[in-house]
Amino acid sequence: MARSLWFAWAWLAEGWQKDVALTIDQAGIITAVATGAGQGDCDIVPGIAMPGLANLHSHGFQRAMAGLAERGNRPGEDFWSWRHVMYQVVNALDPDAIEAVTAMAYVEMLQAGFTTVGEFHYVHHDPTGAPYAARAELAERIIAAAQHTGIGLTLLPCLYSAGGIGRAAEPGQRRFINDIDAFLRLHDDTANILRAAMPNAVLGVAPHSLRAARPADIETIGRMVPTGPIHIHAAEQRIEVDDCITALGATPVAWLLDHAGIDRRWCLIHATHMTPDETSRLAASGAVAGLCPLTEADLGDGIFAGPAFLQAGGRFGIGSDSLIRIDAAEELRQFDTSQRLRDQRRMVLSPHGSAGETLLRGALAGGAQATAQPIGALAPGQRADIVVLDHIGTDLAALPPARWLDHFIFVGGTRLIDRVYGGGRLMVEKGRHRAQASVASRFRAVLRRLVDDLPG
Ligand SMILES: [Zn+2]
Repeated sequence: MARSLWFAWAWLAEGWQKDVALTIDQAGIITAVATGAGQGDCDIVPGIAMPGLANLHSHGFQRAMAGLAERGNRPGEDFWSWRHVMYQVVNALDPDAIEAVTAMAYVEMLQAGFTTVGEFHYVHHDPTGAPYAARAELAERIIAAAQHTGIGLTLLPCLYSAGGIGRAAEPGQRRFINDIDAFLRLHDDTANILRAAMPNAVLGVAPHSLRAARPADIETIGRMVPTGPIHIHAAEQRIEVDDCITALGATPVAWLLDHAGIDRRWCLIHATHMTPDETSRLAASGAVAGLCPLTEADLGDGIFAGPAFLQAGGRFGIGSDSLIRIDAAEELRQFDTSQRLRDQRRMVLSPHGSAGETLLRGALAGGAQATAQPIGALAPGQRADIVVLDHIGTDLAALPPARWLDHFIFVGGTRLIDRVYGGGRLMVEKGRHRAQASVASRFRAVLRRLVDDLPG
């Protein structure tokens, strides 16, 4: 049976609207939106409503290592020394642990305003590198974590075949490795499980990067997996760019644009190190740049070419990647403020209006495209993924609506979030997910064991 939620204000395509009733069907889809609506027999929800955001890039198991790679062991620590810790962590996690850690990440995402996750899933095998008896065991664990927590899922099984361009895999990578045939079998199994367990989820594919997937496979992946989004890490690190130039005669982004048929199906994660020409070509391709500003800052990756990309009409979304922090407003703020620090100017992403609105509109549209989900707006046909901010007990009470998004992104952030609905179901109330306590207790048991096992 359909039901209706009534909000004093809601963020619709035209901006903040007063007295809004959203009608939601049994499948959790919005069927009607009325403004200036009476409360009638609606459920009256205290607070102001905005669409939930997509976290377009997550590696759920990495939540277990958040904060565990923040000690220097030698001069010159970088992405690659962080990756060494990640390999130690991944080898200590069994399927139960991966499910527990991923569920913790998803609970925190919902509490932070992320209602859909793009899970870039690259741990496939047991710690010896052998496939599990059920080939897609770990995909099943991710699906279970998503179902348990109520987050929308776009699952992106990752093709990882090599240790570098033309190099064999390293021992630390053995849980990730498949050749293309084994990968396509795994992808098929995952599709079957997902269809049965979570019919509203979306299945895509993720060749890991030009260093870990073979160029010939990347060129043809769009035909081998003909539907769903395609995500790839690209140009995160200078070394990766230099290796690519040496091996293929082109930077990763230029190579992808020239060979892989980059279009709206694609999401290039990071795209940090681009020439001005690549920046405008990527913008024109219709692909999404999947920015992970908190991870990129933590790993010392570099700063995305935001102003040029946005001026060229480029689409972007945000992801929490390493899960060092899970916070939608903070990702958007970091994206903007990193541009200001580099350029020593203000409002470089939004020269003609509200920075909060520019960031939010961009991330909603780009996140919906990159996850291929019916999300990103409170409108008929969209899933009822709703973030409700407290506008009575916070500074929002003193501000006109035109100031609310700037305040949310730059000042109040996640602490303003009171409720979160996923597909019309109330998952978070008073800022807390309804399974938070049990999920956190299982997660902490895993974390305790992990820290005991980790060297240093
Ligand atoms: Zn990543």
